[in-house]
Amino acid sequence: MSKVQHWQHTIKNSVSLSGVGLHSGKQVTISLHPAPVDSGVLFRRTDLNPVKEIKICHDKMSESPLCSKLVEDGVSIQTVEHLLSALAGKEIDNIIVELDAGEVPVMDGSASPFVFLFEAAGIVEQTVRRKVVKIKKTIRIEEGDKFVELSPCDHYRLEVSIDFDHPAITHQKMDFDFSTSAYSKQVSRARTFGMADQLDGLHQQGLALGASLENAVGLTREGVMNAEGLRAPDEFVRHKVLDAIGDLYVAGAIEGRYQAHKPSHALNNRLLRTLFADSSAWERV
Ligand SMILES: [Zn+2]
Repeated sequence: MSKVQHWQHTIKNSVSLSGVGLHSGKQVTISLHPAPVDSGVLFRRTDLNPVKEIKICHDKMSESPLCSKLVEDGVSIQTVEHLLSALAGKEIDNIIVELDAGEVPVMDGSASPFVFLFEAAGIVEQTVRRKVVKIKKTIRIEEGDKFVELSPCDHYRLEVSIDFDHPAITHQKMDFDFSTSAYSKQVSRARTFGMADQLDGLHQQGLALGASLENAVGLTREGVMNAEGLRAPDEFVRHKVLDAIGDLYVAGAIEGRYQAHKPSHALNNRLLRTLFADSSAWERV
């Protein structure tokens, strides 16, 4: 149960990686650069003229089919959640993320390619302390049988459960005390998942053109389609923890307990908006 680390981090060297965009199905290159203290996570779309920069913030997040997107002045960047999760997982505070398209490459559908990339770049400690959002009051959002909640806790802990009427998933629960090493080992490799019959519908709308068994666990009514099988029997709930860590990182590092049943990107974003609307519910320390 590690406390949130004290010092801000960035990467040591610039690095880049290419992969398929989930929505466009086209090749996207992502380049990561070191950034000074207190600069946060800054996205930069180099395919636009002039180049558009968007700093990550909870009030710029919106929903799109299958992913979270960042939007400012009509410019969007899709599929940011797994990259954000990896940044949270490795406690990287300050970074410039350059993209030559409107989406982050989906890679294998998990956060581990990004974790690998940060490790290849080197992670360096900076000279200013991290600012942590400390939860002071319980905030809960409910929707039907789903809920998400943040409550006070002396470290960062996530308790997530899911229920899916599917033989490979059924009920799964994960209690996760955050640390960078536990994140790499237990969470980062869990892939996103989806029903194959829903993917056909998205393809017909021209969406999710890059989605395949290379970047998701595909499910039929009976079971898992991927020849290699699952990375863990509870890979599904691990991925929900991965997503929640990414969704919450738009607010920065958190000290508190996150509890959820059947969470979604939309519910997580509503949770942050509700939290920040109540100044007695949190403090930045
Ligand atoms: Zn995800």
